[in-house]
Order: sequence, then structure tokens, then C-alpha cells
Amino acid sequence: MKTNVSKKILLEASHLVKEFPVSSSKKKNACVHAVTDVNLTIYEGETLALVGESGCGKSTLGRLLLRLIELTEGKILFEGEDITHMKARELQGIRKKMQIIFQDPYASLNPRMSVEQIIGEPLQTHRACKTKSELQARILDLMEKVGIPKEALKRYPHQFSGGQRQRIGIARAIALNPKLIICDEPVSALDVSIQSQVLNLLRDLQEEYHLTYLFISHDLSVVRHISDRVCVMFLGKICEIGDANDIFTKPKHPYTKFLLEAIPRPDPELRKENKELLMGEMPSPVSPPSGCRFHTRCPYATAHCRITEPEARNINGRMVACHFPLE
Ligand code: SF4
Repeated sequence: MKTNVSKKILLEASHLVKEFPVSSSKKKNACVHAVTDVNLTIYEGETLALVGESGCGKSTLGRLLLRLIELTEGKILFEGEDITHMKARELQGIRKKMQIIFQDPYASLNPRMSVEQIIGEPLQTHRACKTKSELQARILDLMEKVGIPKEALKRYPHQFSGGQRQRIGIARAIALNPKLIICDEPVSALDVSIQSQVLNLLRDLQEEYHLTYLFISHDLSVVRHISDRVCVMFLGKICEIGDANDIFTKPKHPYTKFLLEAIPRPDPELRKENKELLMGEMPSPVSPPSGCRFHTRCPYATAHCRITEPEARNINGRMVACHFPLE
């Protein structure tokens, strides 16, 4: 863990639930159980990686924490303040401190706006600069911070590469000096060589501005070198949370083990092993399996797992939701 990570809680979420109604379903009152009873604490200055397969509820959870979508149940405290039921007007002040970087740098920037307008928009909305010259100086400063040349001020998104567009998205996210940034798969649409440049930029900005990141990714290999702690999600629930080093070296939840072993390896024999570990199809979030949600795919499942849902337990500082955690 980085030395500048404090033990001061920045955000605390308890018993978060998000259900989306399914209107086309034949079953009455059917809904997608996107997030189910999630408890999460984010500490100041840390990078908490939120990982899991596509559709497991990670992005929904990120948006719930930012209050971009409404909760079905639960409570969110940000800097000790209850923001669960805050109205849009009250949320304005909080939104300055919580920003998001989106996955797709192509779709997240308005094609009709220049770089100057894109980065300047949050500054103008929140009246962060007193004069036009102050605004322009701030925009140029942000462009420099993220490695976009100042000559590009009047250019439009289509005139940039994917990596540069993501840099513009990052400049927009840090414009108001936020405390927390939700990075929603920020490098998954980029080439591998560009990914590391963007990850390095995020790390440098974190140090300079003492930022806190919730870094959402489906790929554990991406978060390996940047996360302080890792939170693993499966079908709307958290399976395991712990120190990144411990999780990567000794996973305790079978699903975490699977995700780690699914990281591509050059050895074909090892690749074969990976395929054998995980069984079955991804269950439906409309009717999740009884007991442990992972039991239909878990090679260690017993009859007990099929009936009884495992409680989250603390094992030497690691939160694990499994009846039979791995040694
Ligand atoms: Fe596997 Fe049972 Fe643990 Fe669920 S509770 S992960 S089914 S061993």
C-alpha cells in the first residue's frame, strides 16, 4: 500500500441495493438484481479496484456511489455526510468532489465541443473561475497536466487518438479538484501500449492532487500495479475485499482465484487449467441462484452452499463471503 494512503474514511456505503424492473418479463414484479446488500468503505488517498466480469454490477455500483442513479435501498456517507437522499441542488457541492472517468473515450466526449469547451464546462457550471482569462489559463494548465499540447485548444474530439481523448476526459474530471474519482474501465478501450501511459498519468495525478480512486475493471491484470486494495464482485454481491498484495498472492474466495487464473498466460498448459476451473453459465441477475450465488460455477460447492447464503466474514483483515474459504 502507498505510504500516503490514510485510514480516514472518505466514503462509506452500507447495504446498497439496486433493482431495475424488467417490464418484458412474464414473471410479475420481476427485476434485475444489479447490486445486492453491498457494504463498502473507501479510504482517502487509496486506489480501490472494483473487479468482476461484465454485467456483475460494478458500473451500477460506481454510479450509485456518485448518486447518478437512485438507490433502491441503502445509505451513502461522503466525508461523514449522509448523501443518500440529497436533492439535486444539495448534491451540486458534493458533485464537485466526486467525478467520473468513463470507459469509452469516443462516446464520453461531445463531438460538437472543442477541448476548450469540454474542459471548461465543469469550471463554468460551478463558477470556478472569476474571469475569462483565469478560465483559459486553468484550461491550459489542465491540458498540460494531462499531456495535451496547448495548440490543441480549439480542436474537436475526432481530431485525437483514443489515448488523447481519454486524457481530455481525465482533465475534465480533475478540473474541479475532486477528492474521489470513479474510473470506470478507463483503459479497456485502449491499446495495451497506451493503457500503461494512461495508468501512469492517473498514478502521477493521484500523487500530485492526493486523489482517491475507485478503479472499475473486468481485468485483474490491469489493476495489479495500481491498486492498494481490491474488491471482487460477482452477480451484484461482493465476494472478497482485501489488500491488493494479499489478494493477488493468496486469494481466499474461489471466484477471485478464478479471475486471477484467467489472466492470460503464454503457457498453453496453464491456459487449459484455467478453462477447467470455472464451470457452468453465468447465472441470470433476474433470478440469482439460491444460497451462494457462485455455487453453480464453483468447483468447491457443497449441498450447504446451494442452500445457505454465506455471510461476509473477516479473516485476518480480509472480508470473504464463502463457507469454505481457500487456505
Ligand atoms: Fe464456492 Fe461454497 Fe464458497 Fe460459494 S460458499 S464460493 S459455492 S465454496
